[in-house]
Amino acid sequence: MNKKNKAASATFEQPIILTRDQHPVSRQLLSPSALKVLYRLNKSGFDAYLVGGGVRDILLGLEPKDFDIATNATPDEIKALFRNCRLIGRRFRLAHIVFGREIIEVATFRGHHDSASDKEKSCKKTSKQSEHGMLLRDNIYGTIDEDAERRDFTINALYYSTKDFKVYDFANGVQDVNDRVIRLIGDPETRYREDPVRMLRAIRFATKLDMTISDGTKAPIKELSSLMANIPAARMFEEFLKMFISGKAVANFEQLRHYNLFGYFFPAVDQALNQDSDEQALLLAFIMLAMGNTDKRINNDQRVTPAFLFAAMLWYPLQKHIQQIKVTSQLTPQDVFFAALNEVMPEQQRSIAIPKRFQAVIKDIWILQDKLERREGKRAFKAFEHPKFRAGYDFLLLRAQIEATPELEELAKWWTDFQEVSNDGRVQMVKTVKAPQGGKRRNPKRRRKPTNQSNAKTVD
Ligand code: ATP
Ligand code: MG
Repeated sequence: MNKKNKAASATFEQPIILTRDQHPVSRQLLSPSALKVLYRLNKSGFDAYLVGGGVRDILLGLEPKDFDIATNATPDEIKALFRNCRLIGRRFRLAHIVFGREIIEVATFRGHHDSASDKEKSCKKTSKQSEHGMLLRDNIYGTIDEDAERRDFTINALYYSTKDFKVYDFANGVQDVNDRVIRLIGDPETRYREDPVRMLRAIRFATKLDMTISDGTKAPIKELSSLMANIPAARMFEEFLKMFISGKAVANFEQLRHYNLFGYFFPAVDQALNQDSDEQALLLAFIMLAMGNTDKRINNDQRVTPAFLFAAMLWYPLQKHIQQIKVTSQLTPQDVFFAALNEVMPEQQRSIAIPKRFQAVIKDIWILQDKLERREGKRAFKAFEHPKFRAGYDFLLLRAQIEATPELEELAKWWTDFQEVSNDGRVQMVKTVKAPQGGKRRNPKRRRKPTNQSNAKTVD
């Protein structure tokens, strides 16, 4: 069989075998924990291979992000071998072997789910497909060659053994690594229907590894993009992190938009971006700058919080809701903000399940935008002491850069100076600040009046 067709037809009889002198994978390049797991499985009589990103990245001359292992030991057998083992996952039952901060993921070889109907009768919890062809469960175990067919891309179906130091290439992945091509194993449409997240993975590997997606793998994506609607919001959060908090947010964003996939992460933003208006240009510039800054920070090993990017993505949708609520209600600015927040957040949560701790920070960043404006008396010092001051200030800089109004630019500069001068200098700075117009309305005593409370209820 011709090598190119081998991946497409996905019947793997014999792998291409690379001996130790034909590939760069060596034990020194693996983490000691990964080696420990491989050795212990082997010593206990099981087959065990390094697979996926661990092999692929070393072939590409990169440092693997983590190490994944495939074995013929079942999850229960793996658990019996390692005290530091947790079994996770329903859709894919996996073992996590925990070594401090490092987790080695160990998966039992997957078998064919479509030819498993007999097995399924005897063991109901093995494999299950939705009406769209999506794999809801894939826990039928098999042999290494069957496992290779169940993997997503040819470059991810490379197996390294610490027994004979050989690389086993089942889908002509080494050739694709050398040609820098992302190619799905098997029929692309079927594979996307089984798991639509593979569309995201194709994009992610292409941007991360600077590769191109093969024509056949690329072709069905736009048409099948709507399958993404079936992905649970919790999984979308994981995918959001991989796409946007990985140093390649800008590149991934552009590709996601190209393939009509961005809207499954941020529907309100996508909708606004697809409208032709001045606001659209502003929104695009704003989120591009936020993503660019996030990428830079990650690539410089600086800390980032996903909350910042969420706050940036949803800032303009929030402003839009604020404007709408303002014209239809008599609420105080603060109540308008909370009413808008209560619309924007639940709507976004339907796409991405943002954990509560990040939601709290998003809210803090937004609230700080108002607090940073009101600097009279003790307010500036209070805002400065806020635990999320730095994120709020960075967000203000971003707004000033994009909106470029004299007021925002001045405010941003004021806060930059405030951080640089002495305490006496700060006291002086505060003295020169004028209360912004409309400040009286925010008198806290007034806010507590029952009339405002009842107003708030009319919006809920
Ligand atoms: P990285 O960890 O660098 O992002 P990776 O290739 O190791 O890349 P993982 O998500 O860690 O990706 O998955 C490990 C391996 O499991 C993959 O290389 C692939 O073989 C297989 N795999 C992961 N997700 C899927 C999927 N949705 N469908 C098929 N195979 C998958
Ligand atoms: Mg991995």
